[in-house]
Amino acid sequence: MERLATQGGRPVRPTLLPYAHQTIEPDDVAAVGEALTADWITQGPVVARFERALAEHAGVKHAVAVANGTAALHAACWAAGLAPGDEVITTPLSFAATTNAIVHQGAQPVFADIDGATLNVSADAIKRVATPRTRALLPVDFAGLPCEYERLLPLARENGWIVIADAAHSFGGAANGRPVGALADMTTLSFHPVKLITTGEGGAVLTDRDDFAERLRAMRHHGIRYPDPARPWRYEIPELGTNYRLTDFQSALGLSQLGKLDRFWRRRDQLARRYRERLAGSRFLELPDLATGVRHGWHLFVAMLRLERFSADRDVIVTSLRAENIGVTVHYPLVYRHSFYAERFGYGPGLCPSAEAVEGRLMTLPLFPAMTDHDQDDVLRALDKVFARYAR
Ligand SMILES: *Cc1c(COP(=O)(O)O)cnc(C)c1O
Repeated sequence: MERLATQGGRPVRPTLLPYAHQTIEPDDVAAVGEALTADWITQGPVVARFERALAEHAGVKHAVAVANGTAALHAACWAAGLAPGDEVITTPLSFAATTNAIVHQGAQPVFADIDGATLNVSADAIKRVATPRTRALLPVDFAGLPCEYERLLPLARENGWIVIADAAHSFGGAANGRPVGALADMTTLSFHPVKLITTGEGGAVLTDRDDFAERLRAMRHHGIRYPDPARPWRYEIPELGTNYRLTDFQSALGLSQLGKLDRFWRRRDQLARRYRERLAGSRFLELPDLATGVRHGWHLFVAMLRLERFSADRDVIVTSLRAENIGVTVHYPLVYRHSFYAERFGYGPGLCPSAEAVEGRLMTLPLFPAMTDHDQDDVLRALDKVFARYAR
């Protein structure tokens, strides 16, 4: 058997293949350069153009660009009017920014369990944890798979809840013929470099609702309202907002990147299909279900280790693969396991059994548009090498 890199052997490849990486091309750089030498540097005409292009892409009326995806989530919770006493149902399997936004509004996050096959929040579990204090749903399109909005939206309508979709992973995806962005009352995006397109830091909220769009624009600019457009020096602050503005030069990058989203997506989809073909029927890995009628955004390629077939735990496998220069990682520790959530809200083990059953088995494989087939073969070789060593 080949010696693992953790045991002094030669790694599968000489340099680290990261799990994600931005794709910045010369025309992206040129677009930013042009914006930087224009009259505006911060929020100006390019932000407005980027917003129109985003809204058009998703087929919605409004896009409001903000400083990052976390700001987008917070602004959406603010625009929805969430306040102390309100409960918001969300998934435990996400980046903590999703739930943090609820807490920043003083509302109570309530975790509904995931569907163990798709890894997205389950509509049935949402019904089980809803109370008369429930005001909104905050589902996450985990890894890029759009949630079952055809069930979530009617449920929300019946109960008067607002649906805020965290689509940081799924922008570029679609469900039932409608693009991500048009599937919920508000949809938040992140343009962090690991995501589907980038502005460095950046985010946006997409919505068809005029009232939400108006509130989002106010919130990102200190809560300021201008009662008289003819006298823009006169303004009023009826509600506390903050500065969540995106800059024109970031938006120039965003506009340029948005034009490449389909191309980036096609490459991600190709790589994901190839992973799924090669790993189908693996003794060691299980793959999440793909719903039908859905275009997966493929931000992440997530697999689940069949730990019962290993003589080692997930950390040993991940450490071994990283030593082989394959940048596998874990998305995510469950949000309610963070000590802040345990201490503030008293959440503990047993809250979401399906999520807890997969938590220790999750592993994310490298996936990004600039990855070559050869890079992907390195990943597959490293998996074989490490799995062979630790097979039970
Ligand atoms: C990346 C991410 C965020 C936060 O986005 P930032 O732009 O990094 O603030 C929020 N939710 C999810 C699911 C994410 O993956």
